[in-house]
Amino acid sequence: MNTLAERYAAVQERLTLAARRAGRPPEEITLVAVSKTWPAEIVLAAYEIGLRHFGENRVEELVEKRPQVEAQLGRQSGLVWHLIGTLQSRKTDEAAVCADAFHALDRPKIANRLSRALVANGRTLPIFLEVNVSGEETKAGLDCRLWEDAPTQRVSLLSLAETAQLLPGLQLYGLMTMAPWDVAAEEIRTVFRRTRRLAEWLQTALARAEPLALSMGMTDDFEIAIEEGATHVRIGRALFGPRQ
Ligand SMILES: *Cc1c(COP(=O)(O)O)cnc(C)c1O
Repeated sequence: MNTLAERYAAVQERLTLAARRAGRPPEEITLVAVSKTWPAEIVLAAYEIGLRHFGENRVEELVEKRPQVEAQLGRQSGLVWHLIGTLQSRKTDEAAVCADAFHALDRPKIANRLSRALVANGRTLPIFLEVNVSGEETKAGLDCRLWEDAPTQRVSLLSLAETAQLLPGLQLYGLMTMAPWDVAAEEIRTVFRRTRRLAEWLQTALARAEPLALSMGMTDDFEIAIEEGATHVRIGRALFGPRQ
């Protein structure tokens, strides 16, 4: 069994090689270590060897883990918590307090509730809008499966993006997507490429100077995602091993 440090080095190497293939500086890619299901001690061990960004998909788990980690490291450790999973409306208050970035906004209702809670707590939350471009029925995210040919899908995304831009406390930061499971690499690549093009379209539609970030790529597909423009990769198993 490899150690965490060895697995981290291997992931960094794969990340760097993928960035080079794409002619991109590896530093522009944020590695989010997905620590879901792993206890605070593992997060502390990962922090010790240099990881700073951590991803949790359930608010309940983040609410529990964050104070445990802060009890050891304090609040100025530079550690950034990314909430990467779908958020239920009754969990928005907790998310507003304990997440430092949110990758899965897909409904105006959640945006409104988050905004209210963020204002009440004097916080700002970078937001990724989750889009589903993959053609799978089951995936979370705003339906953008036919975005190139369906103006209504583009309008829905633009409207959610404008909402996120206007609401106080929210900071529109980028798009997030998940590739389908168990499909050929070329199909995964197409999903990531179409997501990047959608982000470019949205940037233009918003008349926004700054490019939108792209949260895409996990253990099995992060190299493809980097080649297609990912700025944030969310990696669990390649760092921590199979989930318990
Ligand atoms: C679990 C999870 C990941 C990480 O998946 P791995 O395959 O372990 O790398 C990434 N993104 C989301 C939204 C997740 O829930």
